[in-house]
Amino acid sequence: MSAAPAVQVSDELRTPLVDRHGRVHRDLRISLTDVCNLRCTYCMPAEGVPWLARENILTTDELLRVAGVAAALGIVEVRLTGGEPLLRADAVDVVAGMASIEGEDGPLEVSMTTNALRLPQLAGPLRDAGLARLNISLDTLRRDVFAALTRRDRLDDTLEGIDAAIAAGFAPIKLNAVAMRGVNDDELTDLLRFAVERGLELRFIEQMPLDAGHIWSRPQMVTGEEILEALQQEFTLTELPGRGAAPAERFLVDGGPSTVGVIRSVTRPFCGACDRVRLTADGQLRNCLFSRTESDLLGVLRSGGTDDDVARLMHACIAGKLPGHGIDEPGFLQPDRPMSAIGG
Ligand code: SAM
Ligand code: SF4
Repeated sequence: MSAAPAVQVSDELRTPLVDRHGRVHRDLRISLTDVCNLRCTYCMPAEGVPWLARENILTTDELLRVAGVAAALGIVEVRLTGGEPLLRADAVDVVAGMASIEGEDGPLEVSMTTNALRLPQLAGPLRDAGLARLNISLDTLRRDVFAALTRRDRLDDTLEGIDAAIAAGFAPIKLNAVAMRGVNDDELTDLLRFAVERGLELRFIEQMPLDAGHIWSRPQMVTGEEILEALQQEFTLTELPGRGAAPAERFLVDGGPSTVGVIRSVTRPFCGACDRVRLTADGQLRNCLFSRTESDLLGVLRSGGTDDDVARLMHACIAGKLPGHGIDEPGFLQPDRPMSAIGG
């Protein structure tokens, strides 16, 4: 098993990752791989995307080194994502290594976003390795819709993965659902009932322009407003205060204790409170999901760069962060990489 290496960052660089707009970055999202066992229409085309060159995928030691430097710069939470993070052969090792890194508030809090297909085998080992929280993607409870949406007939495997996560003792478990017109917008209340019955926290996400096929269109998108209206047909929702940097607006369902979240990235962006920075599986640092530029951390790591060089690049990347994603601005351009290659 990989142990996190001790990092050596000079005192003058051991400062928080603050951008020009005063936002302090504490959350690092790391894509463990760009490959996936599903082909969700809002993310990948049917034939997949040209995969990243395998030799450029960061090794576990490199990932742990970057996380160690990030922790020295005030990162306290690491979310592992992808592609499908559990397709990385050493995903459990990565979790164990990350969870052993000391941040300023104690060990890094390590969480993961997954499609659950490999959880029946891995939920227990992940929990033992120190994974703190799980977010599982589930957009539909109908087998035919799942097969059309993900282009794979694997709803039963996903549901089995959710059961395995519950059995392994993960709590809270969040479910992520992207609402899509004419696809699953008639089962939003069914999804919420499913979550409430199992003690899971469902979060609906507005679809973002991050699909490889560039099929996103604003009028087609189901808005957070529409999602809330649909849910209120069946449930009483009471807004919870104190959102902080969290992207989800949260509501008590029928007086609680269950809650539901809505992530209105498009219609009500939360860029002003954003505390996230992203690392792609091939070692590119991005200061925004929608960023059009990347900082080449892989180059620094593989050309003998020191921990100070890594820290400097992180500071420079954050310093250049724009105030917002600009989806609603006339000149908006979708990033070149699809969500699967950025890491959601
Ligand atoms: N494969 C894992 C999964 O699906 O959970 C992790 C990676 S996936 C890119 C992370 C999250 O991004 C998923 O919850 C997925 O639903 C979401 N996502 C992907 N494309 C999206 C889009 N265009 N708009 C909004 N959310 C998207
Ligand atoms: Fe795979 Fe996740 Fe993208 Fe679906 S959303 S294709 S599961 S990476």
